[in-house]
Amino acid sequence: MPFRMFGFETDSGWFPVIYRTLQQLSNIQKRTGEKIIINQIKEKFGTLSIYLVGSESVQTVCEQAMEQSVHVCEVCGRPGTLRTDGWFKVRCDDHVINGRYDLEHFILEMLEAVDSPTGSAPSE
Ligand SMILES: [Zn+2]
Repeated sequence: MPFRMFGFETDSGWFPVIYRTLQQLSNIQKRTGEKIIINQIKEKFGTLSIYLVGSESVQTVCEQAMEQSVHVCEVCGRPGTLRTDGWFKVRCDDHVINGRYDLEHFILEMLEAVDSPTGSAPSE
């Protein structure tokens, strides 16, 4: 089993981005034999965040995935933009949040930010 994954929390619009990213990571792993440990894949502050343990080239792949997610609606996968009115979310025009806070989401993210101020993956 190449990857160990503990958490996966995004809407399905990003699944193609995540799929491509995992393919790239898998290729790196096959080429180099590097052991890549994925701890969590989630939406954080509007963009795709992948928390893992891996080399610099692995980190670069994850940064590229994050940059790609900024242009993909998290709900449907069509072209979107990062909306900053209300809460940070990447949405197309059809799925825009009407400037209203998703309060539950806001509270959960704030609690997580308090739990891990550095934003790094939790250590085992
Ligand atoms: Zn959409």
